[in-house]
Amino acid sequence: MQRLRPQRLAAAVRRKATQSGTWLEGELKLDTNIVHAAVTPEPRSGAILTPLFLSTTFIQESVEKYLEKGYSYSRTNNPTVTALEEKLAKVENGFGASCFGTGMAATTSAISATMQAGDHCVISDCSYGGTNRSCREFFTPLNMEFDFVDFRDPENVKKAMKPNTKLVFSETPANPVLSLTDIEAVSKIAHEAGAKHVVDATFATPVICRPLDWGADMVIQSLTKYYEGHNMMTGGAVISKDQAMHEKVKWVQNVHGNIINPFAAYIILQTSKTMHLRMRKQSENAMAIAQFLEKHPKVTKVVYPGLASHPQKDLADKYHRDGLHGGMLWFDIVGGSAAGTKLMNVCQRPWSLCENLGATESIITACAVMTHANMLKEEPLPE
Ligand SMILES: *Cc1c(COP(=O)(O)O)cnc(C)c1O
Repeated sequence: MQRLRPQRLAAAVRRKATQSGTWLEGELKLDTNIVHAAVTPEPRSGAILTPLFLSTTFIQESVEKYLEKGYSYSRTNNPTVTALEEKLAKVENGFGASCFGTGMAATTSAISATMQAGDHCVISDCSYGGTNRSCREFFTPLNMEFDFVDFRDPENVKKAMKPNTKLVFSETPANPVLSLTDIEAVSKIAHEAGAKHVVDATFATPVICRPLDWGADMVIQSLTKYYEGHNMMTGGAVISKDQAMHEKVKWVQNVHGNIINPFAAYIILQTSKTMHLRMRKQSENAMAIAQFLEKHPKVTKVVYPGLASHPQKDLADKYHRDGLHGGMLWFDIVGGSAAGTKLMNVCQRPWSLCENLGATESIITACAVMTHANMLKEEPLPE
């Protein structure tokens, strides 16, 4: 094979990238976008992977001219992080994405970008434990107001709206009880009141549901979960539907400085390329386990959005693509929490007793005493 000198190689790569405009920019199928969106060969070497740019600062051509390349300082942006953000924006069908060090940093930044002291938020009474804690224990003392309501019925959201409501916060499927939100109906209620609707779609991922397509203004992803998928890196993202919201989130991020590390962005750029395949297999496996447990004499209840017995099966069918419902399910067993604790303690490999989800290892968790312990002190989880 003829070897090209670096300049000619760079020109060839650029030519290829523009010629194949449809390949890079077009309306590709989600699976193809998950692999290719925002990833172009590196022009100097032709390296197929986006390089890991470990550089805090970027040289300016002149006092006026640093913005041409778009980079100044890695708290504000970094080329590896930008590639991940562009991929997420494409895959989630948003205007732009901001990547954070964790999912919680994404959540608290979405709240900070939409609310100020004196504002009100209607939030699901069933959400990730850390989200609930940040609202009750961090934002409430800053004079922001939160009403925790049951989002299974959009009427409850409507009734809780106030003149100062700026944010409606849903999570679907909700961690850990797998209740679903009618995204379209709740978006409408939020917009009629002039509020933004943010959806934590960590349990769904865009492979199963893209809330921005159903009217939501922002999506939150804990990248720690399915996107990363290998129990290696934490990360989070806010993907915004429009430019104004995206710029607000970016501004908050630059102020707080809670960015994703470029190394984590590099890893997630690679691991996320198989998310659609993992999600399909994990959904299949979860369905098989749910069906097995439903027939088991010692199991009293199984909840999985793929089962006909899920109380919101109609919403699962409407919002979940390709009959996929994710890798998470929960079940109760005869003997209550004492028997549950015993089961957790005797579980053998391949089951691991720990927190986290969405990765290749199979995990079993006692939410009531582990991930959601802080919520249960105040009130029981909704059934
Ligand atoms: C894990 C999780 C979060 C928080 O993400 P971290 O990366 O752990 O900070 C937020 N929402 C949901 C639904 C989660 O499962």
